[in-house]
Amino acid sequence: MPPLIMKKVISSVMMLLLICGIAQSQRATFDRQDTLRGSITSERIWWDLTHYDLNIKVDPSEKFISGYNIVMYKVLDTSQSMQIDLQEPMKITKIMEAGKEITFTTEGHVHLLQLQKPQKVGETNKVTIYYEGNPTISPRPPWSGGFTWKKDKAGNDFIATSCQGDGASMWWPCKDHMYDEPENMSISITTPKHLMDVSNGRLKGVDKNKDGTKTYHWYVDNPINNYGVNINIADYAHFSEVYDGEKGKLDCDYYVLKENLEKAKVQFKDTRRMLTAFEHWFGPYPFYEDGFKLVEVPYLGMEHQSSVTYGNGYQNGYSGTDLSGTGWGMKFDFIIVHEAGHEWFANSITNIDIADMWIHEGFTAYSENLFLDYHYGKQASSEYVIGTRARIANDAPIIGTYNVNSAGSSDMYYKGANIIHMLRQIVNDDEKWRMILRGMNETFYHQTVTTEQIEDYLSEQIGQDLQPFFDQYLRDTRIPTFEYLIKGDQLKYRWTNCNRMFDMPVRIVAGGEALWVSPKPQWKVATLKTADAKIVVDKNFYVSSFNIAGE
Ligand SMILES: [Zn+2]
Repeated sequence: MPPLIMKKVISSVMMLLLICGIAQSQRATFDRQDTLRGSITSERIWWDLTHYDLNIKVDPSEKFISGYNIVMYKVLDTSQSMQIDLQEPMKITKIMEAGKEITFTTEGHVHLLQLQKPQKVGETNKVTIYYEGNPTISPRPPWSGGFTWKKDKAGNDFIATSCQGDGASMWWPCKDHMYDEPENMSISITTPKHLMDVSNGRLKGVDKNKDGTKTYHWYVDNPINNYGVNINIADYAHFSEVYDGEKGKLDCDYYVLKENLEKAKVQFKDTRRMLTAFEHWFGPYPFYEDGFKLVEVPYLGMEHQSSVTYGNGYQNGYSGTDLSGTGWGMKFDFIIVHEAGHEWFANSITNIDIADMWIHEGFTAYSENLFLDYHYGKQASSEYVIGTRARIANDAPIIGTYNVNSAGSSDMYYKGANIIHMLRQIVNDDEKWRMILRGMNETFYHQTVTTEQIEDYLSEQIGQDLQPFFDQYLRDTRIPTFEYLIKGDQLKYRWTNCNRMFDMPVRIVAGGEALWVSPKPQWKVATLKTADAKIVVDKNFYVSSFNIAGE
């Protein structure tokens, strides 16, 4: 999702933009519902999702939805008790298994199904969950989950869902944990006949129903995150193009309000620039089978898989502002670039636990820099990422609390981007760095991963034990200080304000001489070419520096 930027009036003439935490982050206490939601419970672990067949009728006049989800799964271990999540106020009306209705017990948002059919290891079985209700209306989409019910200028309904963090079980019954994804998914949405639904994947057909409604059948031919699934309903205009990409022809489809069609045809040209830059740096777009879509919605935007949602007002920047304060942020449409970056980092490479959400937001915030790097050069990219440091709070670690559905600090965005930018400095070979990023997208293609897997991959590829580096920047809030003292041609230096094992090489300029040093928390000494040199630490490193002589 995009970072949440709150506008605060500081004085009568000055506006300051502040990044605030993502929804539900930084909670101190957790309850049993958080554990049931956020952990791989014994009622979840024994079955592996293979397919969802989600069918929903949307009634805009009553803000009401009803339907069913067929959950298909492979039995990994015998059990008769299955956990399905569906949050209040949505209600399960009936659950069917092999033609018979089965019973279930409910504890808050969690439902335990008592399966009747023997669950034999290796078999693929299914249950069908019927449900209905008036889903939660999101007070602040996309940072809080739920439905958004708006109207376009012509008075037509303009409806969308978003649910990252709060969970897909806000509006449809599912196994609401990141670790398990279906191999593919059908999404069939029924709307009033003058409206259209755009969901994920490809449109396979439209039924005209006898009651005057229409049903749009979408099919996703790839694994998909729960929160990536979405409904977007409007009186849409449609245009399309074909992009010649690394894996062949990629269908790009655009759905926008009719009133914005001409603006969209101009602004959405950033899609091609995005694809060119990201395929260069990260490898092929990860969902050619499903195509790429931009879909206009009544909120800022979201990385819904293969149907990225867009509400940035057909202007460059983030709602028309530059998050870096350098001017470079106005060179592109933030929502097209950021949300599409998530196709690689969030939708293809997905965190198993939302505590590791920096894998989504850190790499995607960094992708903004690489977009600039590709189109405007390395200097632009550096200035941008350094500019975004003003948004880092260092209020809490980037990694959240595991097994309770709790994300870490919103520093996962721009501190995350600066961490990755430093890794590029350490590699000090841009072509090698590009191969590392492309290799990461191959190694973890369409997988759910932990932070440890990403750390191990990067340590191995870079050829250095980066554990102390990651512990410092992901699990600590202190920013290391390069502390030094010059005596003649002798430079004494060390890292302070860091963990005991912290170890990171850094590029400095000493009296015009550029050199690499490898400080540790213990003092080291280097001999410089000139006496009494002035020391400057390369700004590409997110560290501070301190001359203990006070000069
Ligand atoms: Zn994001």
